[in-house]
Amino acid sequence: MSKLPSRGDFIGSLATLAMSAGCETLAFAATSKLVALAPGIAYVPGDIERSLTCNTGVITSSGQISIVDAAIPDGAAAAYAAIRAQTDLPIARVIDTHYHLDHTYGNAYWSDRGARPVAYTGLRAELAKAEPELFGGGPGLWQKMTGALPQLRSSRPVSPSYVKSGTTFGSGRDAITIIHPGTGHTHSDAVVWVPAKRALFTGDLVVNGPYNAVADSTIGPWIRVLDDLRALRPEFVVPGHGRAGGPELIVAQQHYFKKVTQEVDRAIESGRAVDAEIPAIHRRILADPATASFVNDGHLKYSGFFHFHDLAAKIYHERTSKTLARHSDAPPPARCCGDLYRYRLEETT
Ligand SMILES: [Zn+2]
Repeated sequence: MSKLPSRGDFIGSLATLAMSAGCETLAFAATSKLVALAPGIAYVPGDIERSLTCNTGVITSSGQISIVDAAIPDGAAAAYAAIRAQTDLPIARVIDTHYHLDHTYGNAYWSDRGARPVAYTGLRAELAKAEPELFGGGPGLWQKMTGALPQLRSSRPVSPSYVKSGTTFGSGRDAITIIHPGTGHTHSDAVVWVPAKRALFTGDLVVNGPYNAVADSTIGPWIRVLDDLRALRPEFVVPGHGRAGGPELIVAQQHYFKKVTQEVDRAIESGRAVDAEIPAIHRRILADPATASFVNDGHLKYSGFFHFHDLAAKIYHERTSKTLARHSDAPPPARCCGDLYRYRLEETT
């Protein structure tokens, strides 16, 4: 586990975030647009580089709309406005792909507009740890985040309805299926598959850019899950963060994890101190055009979620059951929200 920041640092960075959150959200809302990929398949791009907004999937079938990932309340409002600029169709449901706050905190927003929040049943256990107040416990991550995200004060956490993997809404050309392909980004990831359109909404199991947050991840199983997603043979892939594309997004994500795993394995086999090898591995991954786009160079507002060191440390731990020391050349520890997840984990494990 990473060392917690001091209380002063922690509160200070949250206060800075709180001051800057409002105007950025307004700018984001003004530029949000519905991007059509195929008839009935669209998404509203999020902006994880500047705010905690994920991509919002938009599926039109059976004369109604299904949303994939609720985003945070302001992100949900921006997506809703972008959708309503194009269609008045009712919004039947919002499907949360995993429990992370940038994918679930907009549940109340969508629910207040007639949509039913839905998720794979495995999400319940993770949400119960993060947000115990939803299950009769005390305050959780939501309360901690109100300083950083004042928008949460005018909303509320909402637990979705839980369904089994394989649950399908609609039939034939209108079918939308929720699939839990296994453990990866979290323990309860789900994807949303629209077979008639060969469209796959992946949540954070696939991202397009330096947005792999691995605090809750297991990388070996994640690589195998990506095989299963490739086997669906999707034509359209909407990742959790970054621009939509085709199956090449899954291939690229898997290649990145395999390359870092190979590098960590090689360092372990060399017998040298692996922590001292990490900066050189980092440089080689950045120098390779096939992997460079996945590496966070520190420019993201929420860089704390996405450190390369954390990915290497995860792989090292899975291989050796040991904790990788943070080398002096490694990026600085997370300042804000990445620490919130670790904070929660340290409290609950
Ligand atoms: Zn996530």
